[in-house]
Amino acid sequence: MSAAGHGGAGARRARRGSAGAPSVERLLTGIAQLVTPAGPGAKRGAQQSELHVLEDAVIAVQDAKISWLGPASAWRGTAIEEVDLGGRAVVPGLVDPHTHLLWAGERYDDLEDRLAGVPYQRILARGGGIRSTMRATAAAGRDELLRASRRRLSDLVASGATTVEVKSGYGGSVEAELEALEAIAELGASSPVRIVATLLVHVPDPEERATRLREVRELLIPEAAARGLASRLDVFVEREAFSVAEAEQLLLAGREHGLDLTLHADQFNAIGGVELAVRLRARSVDHLEVSGVEQIDTLAQGDTVATLLPGVSLELGLPPAPGRALIDAGVPVALASDLNPGSSPLYSTALAMALSLRLNRLRPAEALVAGTVNAAAALGLDDVGWLGVDARADLMVLPEADWRALVHGMGGPGPVEVYAGGVRVDRDAGAETPRRS
Ligand SMILES: [Zn+2]
Repeated sequence: MSAAGHGGAGARRARRGSAGAPSVERLLTGIAQLVTPAGPGAKRGAQQSELHVLEDAVIAVQDAKISWLGPASAWRGTAIEEVDLGGRAVVPGLVDPHTHLLWAGERYDDLEDRLAGVPYQRILARGGGIRSTMRATAAAGRDELLRASRRRLSDLVASGATTVEVKSGYGGSVEAELEALEAIAELGASSPVRIVATLLVHVPDPEERATRLREVRELLIPEAAARGLASRLDVFVEREAFSVAEAEQLLLAGREHGLDLTLHADQFNAIGGVELAVRLRARSVDHLEVSGVEQIDTLAQGDTVATLLPGVSLELGLPPAPGRALIDAGVPVALASDLNPGSSPLYSTALAMALSLRLNRLRPAEALVAGTVNAAAALGLDDVGWLGVDARADLMVLPEADWRALVHGMGGPGPVEVYAGGVRVDRDAGAETPRRS
């Protein structure tokens, strides 16, 4: 761990930008400990635990980006506004690269049944499970759907997330999926944090499987891409969902239309989804609960980020994904909440990181990299997930001076403060409320 390079590079740039002392919009001071991965790009192997730590730091913000960062004693500029963070630790805003937070209807009855030992097949047969979410989402008006989804988004933001991926996938039909993506766009337009929209091909229609697949390839994917409603395509590869051959056809169509690729794979059965992800150079492959030595070796030879979802393991009582083995093999690992109404009702990106220590055997520094810069890499983003000159000024302020509070506590300690584009995000309003010093 070292602070070398950070203040130095920033200082040079700021001095170049303005002869003499630079003037910036906002200066964040009172940072007892600034902790960040070194810079953009997926980190693997030993790099997954490398953090730069700077004591008594300041961050200068201009045009929503970091224009200077270094020791308070080295700052020579002026700022229109100064914000004192009170001697606490600052880390990059968290990146949550896998959520299904756009839904209507809750599945509390499913939970009661599951706890009483009712098999999932019987829950499905009585109209519960994912089909009930699809029905309730279809029946909800846009306003109701957005109201519920905004509340969930603000919970993730309150836990430190400043970039959140949101998937469609509860629609089913071409029209319903496009409507879901439109709703995600609306969510993003009204949110102070960045939303990344993903088109998810989730559950096959048992009656008209071939027709539906053709519609997805020939209508849904081209339309979603052409209208800029999604930047990524996700396919659920599983015995009960799509085969490797079906997924490959869909993903190739997505690639043809300029979408980044990602997969749900190896959740219940390792049927070749990981191998497909690496072969197609997908940005990420998510779940991996049942991945074994072969899949880990395959991932180690590729560039695909392995995104782990510890909330699912906890909720379903399944063996967790082999996080320790993946990192030891040199696979870049990311973490996500997988917030959804069934298998992962986890309303905290930070808690996903805390759980990864217990369930996936990550170490604190590895979990921070997994929840920031590696998660950003899974989304193809290079301006978030780290703190340095030219990165977006997205950061979280922890309640104490040692950043490890973030992953030691489970569901706290709180509250945290979150800054997006250098502006403090007010949790309840979901609006920007800059704090004057
Ligand atoms: Zn998922």
